[in-house]
Order: sequence, then C-alpha cells, then structure tokens
Amino acid sequence: MTTQRLVVALLDGLGVDCFTGSPMPALKAMAGKGFYKQVKAVTPTVTNVNNVSVCCGAWPDEHGISANSYFDAASGQAAYMNSADMVRVETLFQRALKQGTSGALLTSKKKTVELFHKDTVLSVAAEAAPTEFVERYGAPPDIYSAEINYWLWTVAADILKSRPDIGVLYVHTTDYPMHRWSPEEQGSLDHLSRLDTLIEEATAAAPDAALFAVADHGMNRKTRCWDLARVCASRGVSLRFALSPERDYYIVHHRNFAGSCWLWLRDPSDRSAVETICRGLEGVEDVITREEAMRRFRLPGDYIGDLMVLGDKDTVFGDMEREREDLPPAFRAHGSLHESDVPLLIHGWQNPLPESEYFTHNLHLTSFLF
Ligand SMILES: [Zn+2]
Repeated sequence: MTTQRLVVALLDGLGVDCFTGSPMPALKAMAGKGFYKQVKAVTPTVTNVNNVSVCCGAWPDEHGISANSYFDAASGQAAYMNSADMVRVETLFQRALKQGTSGALLTSKKKTVELFHKDTVLSVAAEAAPTEFVERYGAPPDIYSAEINYWLWTVAADILKSRPDIGVLYVHTTDYPMHRWSPEEQGSLDHLSRLDTLIEEATAAAPDAALFAVADHGMNRKTRCWDLARVCASRGVSLRFALSPERDYYIVHHRNFAGSCWLWLRDPSDRSAVETICRGLEGVEDVITREEAMRRFRLPGDYIGDLMVLGDKDTVFGDMEREREDLPPAFRAHGSLHESDVPLLIHGWQNPLPESEYFTHNLHLTSFLF
C-alpha cells in the first residue's frame, strides 16, 4: 500500500451544477489534469448518510447510517444518528491505521467528530475548537457562516505543513453557504472562489499529497413544504411517525425540511390509503415501500419507515404548524433525487486507479483505498 499522503475533501452541498457554474479555477484545473467524473450521491441526499458512505467507502446497508436522524421506536421519538457506535464498518481512518497510516479529521460541524473520531490522531470541529487551536489559528467564525470553511482550510494547510506524520487528512466543510445563496449570488461566488484558493494553498503546502474531493449532495431552491403527518391525519389516517431524514442540530438554514420523508404506519393495513393520499399531493414524485428503498438505495431496513416519499425538485417535507407552506424565494434545501449529481475528483495520485466505470457514487472515492 502507498505511503503517499491523502487529503480527502468532503465539500458539503457542492452539487455538479454549483461546481461547474462557480469560479473554482484551481479545482477545475486539477479535474482536467487528474481524474474527474460526475457521480451520484447516496439517497436520501442528506449529509450524514453521504458523509459516512464516503468516510467508510461503503453503502448505507453496510455502515448502518440511514440519515441525520432515525425513529427510535422505544421512545417514540426521533434521535440523532451522530454516534460512532452506530457505524457498523471501519472508517477510512481505521482501515488506514491497520496499515500503519494515521489519520486526522477536520470539520466545520461537531456531529462529524461524533461519527468519525475513533482511531484518529486528531479530530477537530471548528464549531467546538479546542483551546490550542483557538490560540494558534484564532477563534473560528460562527457555524452559520461561510468564513468557518475558510478557517477550516487554513488549519488544513498548516497541518499538512507541520504534521507530515498524518497520512490521511479528511476535511469536511459546511453547506450553510449553499443553503443561503444560489450559485449565481455574490455570497456564493465569494465563498467558492475563496474555498478554491484555500484548497489550492493547502495542496501546495503538501505537493506530495493527493487530493480526493467529492460532495455529499447538491442543493435546490424549494417552493413548497408538506407536513405529511398532518396531511394524513386530516384525511382520516393517523401515522405512527413521520421523519425528515434532514433532522439535525443545524436548523437555521433549512428548518429540517428535506426532499424525502419516511413514514411509519400505525397498522400495515393503512398502507394503500397513505400511499394514495401522498401520491395525490402536488410535488410528490414517488412513494415506495421499505423493501424497495432498501433495494434501490441500499438503505438499512431497520432504520427507515414503512414508506418512503420522494419529492420533486421543488418540494420538501417536515414538521410544521400547518399541512402546507409556500416557502420564501430564498429557501434552498436537499434530500430528494434531484440533488444527486455530485463531482468526484482525484488529483496527484501516484498509484493506479480503478477503471472509470468503478466510480458510480461518491462513496467510491475511498472504497478502493487501504
Ligand atoms: Zn450536506
């Protein structure tokens, strides 16, 4: 196995349309010189299930993480899916360590540390930076900012310079800027051009290292939201539970609404009525069973609902005070099949790569390593 250093960049929320339409000359040049392919994200297109798939190089039915939250039947409540103990396979860090390569994690979000901290020599979230990092790099900006990603990549460049013993550096940004701005808006142009420069500086700090970059999902403007528990109840069928796979600590930018939803039935005989109700709603693209979701998306059956509802490009689902809400023009979110196209890029790798056909999903970025 190689001793070449790796930088794995999980660029949160950077869909293909956003990457190609944004001023990111350094990454685009690397894509031109190295390996580049448009691949699919894992469904549902929310962060945890994709982040874990990339960090483990495995499918959800292998690693066991289905979303940002799951329905805990014992308590009857939703619970966060942010614990390393829930990950059923080895992470990239654990696989690398077995071959004598140590790994480090830098992330904007503390939930990523909760998931991947095991067997890392360093595991730091900007959101909860340790004192020595604050002293060395300054206080990290707020989690709801573009600047927190700049802080993160500045730290990454310094670690690449000062810690050559770290063989795998995983850097996970936040998608707050993608929620906040469309790719054409100045805020997004500024964010991605700065990010591009910082990633170029980080890779220049470690000319021996290879860059492996991919995204967890894209992002789209959403115009309507349905609360499916309220919808079904008002039409005579009460659900046991409805869960947005986006349910997360970070609610400011998306109110936990997602382009897909899991429904748990009170009684199996409610299935066709619930399916008919959901299919009748504007913006519902498909309603599939747990078994079909397991087969099509390789999801772990023990965590997903009896039914999975998929929205069209404009539609999200979530808990609200009413059945339906028309969303403000600035509302941007993900979670449907329409946020599945993501860029995958490998640059500077001095070893053989699998054939291009091997790379169909973002998780294949790391599945052949170690
Ligand atoms: Zn994300």
